[in-house]
Amino acid sequence: MALDVRKNLKEVQENIEKACERAGRDISEVTLIAVSKTKPVDLIMEAYDAGIRDFGENKVQELTRKMEEMPSDINWHMIGHLQKNKVKYIAGKVKLIHSVDSFELAEEISRQCVKKDVSQDILVEINIGDEDSKFGVSYDRVTELVDKIIGLPKITLRGLMCIAPNVDNSEKNRELFKKMIKKAVDINSNKMYYVNRENTRPGRFLDVLSFGMTNDYVVAVEEGATMVRVGTGIFGERDYGLQGGFNQ
Ligand SMILES: *Cc1c(COP(=O)(O)O)cnc(C)c1O
Repeated sequence: MALDVRKNLKEVQENIEKACERAGRDISEVTLIAVSKTKPVDLIMEAYDAGIRDFGENKVQELTRKMEEMPSDINWHMIGHLQKNKVKYIAGKVKLIHSVDSFELAEEISRQCVKKDVSQDILVEINIGDEDSKFGVSYDRVTELVDKIIGLPKITLRGLMCIAPNVDNSEKNRELFKKMIKKAVDINSNKMYYVNRENTRPGRFLDVLSFGMTNDYVVAVEEGATMVRVGTGIFGERDYGLQGGFNQ
């Protein structure tokens, strides 16, 4: 069957809407990020033409190339593992870097931003399923990392991100999503401490929660995700061979 991006998008958006209704949430609280990695620009433009303005990529070179080729009103999200030596290509240019999992990486983003006099929003990535195959800081060390990061100039820590385990039944990830929310709530409960730091926004702290992918975005929205990252469910299966030319 031919791939119909517009139809897939409509289905995903309806599922998000229904999940919001069930959870008593307002649809405006949830941003759908169309994960376009490995996909060609003409296909991604179908999602753009259908109204999508948030796109996620996991490789720096592929992201910057698409950024140049596509309209300038797109919010680009760096969702993949980021090497320190690639930070300079995206710092201050992307809407959000989701994958900060060490102080050294945060420090490098900050350093590049200071150099260019730009600012950058970031998320801390948590290895929520404690999987060897995944990047991310371990759950127990999140607060410690957050404490260190918020002292850095020109970057704003907006929230938390995770890639949950790939499970056959999305219900299996519900408890992990609850743990994500709990961590954000715990950290935010110390808000008076954080909001007095110079680079946090007055009165607000962690308000972005990025989790949920094709297999589990419905559960993610029910549990409180504010950003879901859906690739396959919009653009179809990926052929990673096509990404060969873009390797970081
Ligand atoms: C590829 C990817 C996604 C999208 O995965 P799908 O299962 O295709 O929806 C989401 N988040 C990250 C970090 C990814 O690398």
